[in-house]
Amino acid sequence: MNRLNILTFPDPRLRKKAIPITAFDKDLEKKADDMLFTMYEDKGIGLAATQVDIHERLIVIDLSEDRSEPLIIINPSYTVLDDTLEVSKEGCLSIPTFQQEVPRAKEIELTYQDLNGREQKLIADGLLGYCIQHEIDHLNGKLLVDYASSLKRSRIKEKLMKSKDVKNKN
Ligand SMILES: [Zn+2]
Repeated sequence: MNRLNILTFPDPRLRKKAIPITAFDKDLEKKADDMLFTMYEDKGIGLAATQVDIHERLIVIDLSEDRSEPLIIINPSYTVLDDTLEVSKEGCLSIPTFQQEVPRAKEIELTYQDLNGREQKLIADGLLGYCIQHEIDHLNGKLLVDYASSLKRSRIKEKLMKSKDVKNKN
């Protein structure tokens, strides 16, 4: 398994809209494996393909304490079952040190395909529901910073660009 490079804001590639997956083959399996590995290494709970510069509709999630319940979600879409908006603080592997309160639908029904291309359904609320909504945002080129004020957005942009400069010089 390979650890993939995670793009960080404001990299414009994070704004690309991902395309549907049509081939359920070994190549797709490898992408999902590498993404899970990368997510575990970086101690994230979810990762969208967009974040590792793969612009296909694939996300991985694992909310378990011992990192033993990987969820591989392909071509996801959801309907809102309970549209009460709940606000919680979210972070993102592509925006280090940044946190943002985001309103998310309380309960959703997710429809997706698994690695074999079989259609699956999942009703999700709480953290799992928010996480799915966060990762689907990524596939559509939307980021946590879009929920922030423009002042907060430019501050984090400056901060991350500065730390990138430092890294490049070393
Ligand atoms: Zn994210």
